[in-house]
Amino acid sequence: MGAGWTALMEVVGFIWPPRCWLCGAGTEGLGRRDPWCAEHRLTGRSGDATCVRCAAELPPGMGPRSMCAGCRRRAPAFARVAAPLAYRDPAARAAILAFKHGGRRDLCAPLARALGAGLSEGPSPFNLLVPVPSHPSRILARGYDPPALLAAELELAGMGQRASVLRRVRATPPQGSPGAPARRGNVRGAFRSVARLGGEAVWLVDDVVASGATADACARTLREAGAGRVEVLALARA
Ligand SMILES: [Zn+2]
Ligand SMILES: [Zn+2]
Repeated sequence: MGAGWTALMEVVGFIWPPRCWLCGAGTEGLGRRDPWCAEHRLTGRSGDATCVRCAAELPPGMGPRSMCAGCRRRAPAFARVAAPLAYRDPAARAAILAFKHGGRRDLCAPLARALGAGLSEGPSPFNLLVPVPSHPSRILARGYDPPALLAAELELAGMGQRASVLRRVRATPPQGSPGAPARRGNVRGAFRSVARLGGEAVWLVDDVVASGATADACARTLREAGAGRVEVLALARA
């Protein structure tokens, strides 16, 4: 960048200083692309030991490459969950909830970038990005569909080709109320694929993975429709 560009950016910064994505506070010296104020700066997951399959936190004392009791009991249909942001971090949680429930669809792009930056591997070998389908009633209430927006953003970032092949066959009770085993029953048979797949590797895209039951049901549906390896890509694991 030449001196002219630097001078121009100084003028732009003076007239239009960077503001925190989430709260709009001025963010001196934090850069222009993804400014987050000190309170809302996103941090990735720390070195907590998490399940190699579903990314759930492991009880203390288990090794870093272990599988949780749930996955040992019944292996999920997905190969693993990549969810780089720390849901326990108040800043990450605030941004994710604002995107998911607070009408802040503008947070999709910076959150998708944080997701991409938090992945340990290089360019993705995965060729399909399949969003977890939302309840139509929720899309109506929000005016947008967070997993579909994320998949579109990740496609722009060159992480694969978007393919919205999953549909909800029936509404399922909202997450959070029933216990995990009941929830697994709730989502069984709740999805179908509208396309046959030919062994493609798939990123199943969701905003937040809660119990993993929805991701498991979607991954099972994709595998039955002919997908190869299915990995789950989410902002965070709750
Ligand atoms: Zn802020
Ligand atoms: Zn697990």
